[in-house]
Amino acid sequence: MILANARLPEGFADVEIAGGLIVATHPPGKAPPANDRIDIAGMLLLPAFVDGHLHLDKTHWGAPRLPHVEGRGVRERIAAERVQRHRVALPIEARAAALVRTLIANGTTRLRSHVDIDNDVGLDNLEAVIAVREAFRDWIDVQLVAFPQSGVTTEAGAPDLLAAALMAGADLIGGLDPGGFDGDVKGQLDIVFGLAEAFGKGVDIHLHDFGEAGAAELRDIAERTIAAGLQGRVAVSHAFALGTIPPSLFEQTADFLARAEVAIMTSCPPSAPVPPVNALRARGVTVFAGSDNIRDCWSPYGDGDMLDRAAIIAERHQMFADRELRDAFALATSEADKALGDPRRGLRPGAVADLVAVEAASVADAVVDRPARTLVLRAGRIAAERGVPSAALASVQVPGALRSSEAETELQMKAVEQALRAELEARR
Ligand SMILES: [Zn+2]
Repeated sequence: MILANARLPEGFADVEIAGGLIVATHPPGKAPPANDRIDIAGMLLLPAFVDGHLHLDKTHWGAPRLPHVEGRGVRERIAAERVQRHRVALPIEARAAALVRTLIANGTTRLRSHVDIDNDVGLDNLEAVIAVREAFRDWIDVQLVAFPQSGVTTEAGAPDLLAAALMAGADLIGGLDPGGFDGDVKGQLDIVFGLAEAFGKGVDIHLHDFGEAGAAELRDIAERTIAAGLQGRVAVSHAFALGTIPPSLFEQTADFLARAEVAIMTSCPPSAPVPPVNALRARGVTVFAGSDNIRDCWSPYGDGDMLDRAAIIAERHQMFADRELRDAFALATSEADKALGDPRRGLRPGAVADLVAVEAASVADAVVDRPARTLVLRAGRIAAERGVPSAALASVQVPGALRSSEAETELQMKAVEQALRAELEARR
């Protein structure tokens, strides 16, 4: 296959693709003849995007919007979710599949999703998301994190459930605010790192804890990472503490993270004190981007578009120069690929041909303009055109994702809303 007249950073070229990989770039018109030739007429070619943090099991994507239950703290959100999670109109398989199709149409071909593991859902959510991963295996690479949404030491039986999740197919072990939620930093981290070592898995911990307490947890995680020989395989998601501590403590903490090769994931919510991306990167810490919650009980927002995410990050961190806009883009491409391990994307020969073509003159233009994704290729196959999944991608079926008619869905949604309102009224 030849992708002709592509705009690359070094100029225009014909990109030769074979066996799902980029094999060579040629001056325009100089590529060997090919059966399959797509002329992209000077469009900018980008490596496909990586979404480093999602919750495929939580999303309501594809179902009508549920009213957001009020209350801001982590505990309040968990309580609200326990009410809502059993009442969303469509099964997880249907919602996660709908979101995955949208992500791919937006240009994302690799993701990491956390999946709730607790006594309320057991391994049900994980099994549903694994079915989605299997169904879309040819179209997107999916890493799953066993996420203890209801705590580790404070949720009876959580360690055994997490171990079962790792045996059932989760790729990494998660964690949740060891201090702020479980109130037992040592207890939670002993279990999380113990499971990582026992199963040979990476770690990705949700850490919302602010201030010096959160920073101490980050240093603790870094020390444990080195002790377990897990350098390069541990990430901390959010790490809001890094945005709330004085400069000297920040520098000390960032140096711990860099030495241990612990990566920091930011979704850069406009509503939280986020880790300073540029200062972290300047001290050698890998920072990567993710959408986090998309239209679920935690956030009514989100669109699964990593160009939007890069722009949000760039604006929040005053990354305005072209070089800085390229840096923001890297958080959703090369840096995320590095943080997730086994980086194989890029515009170089030998890289997997997961590519996105857009009407833009440069990466900086693409971040600012967020143009439509004219073409998305997955391993050299057309996955989507102009935001619409290809027939092959659209036809992917997930067992368990029963397709209800729109009328049925609407009726279900009305019943769900009524039950929810009644429950909320009863609580007041
Ligand atoms: Zn999350």
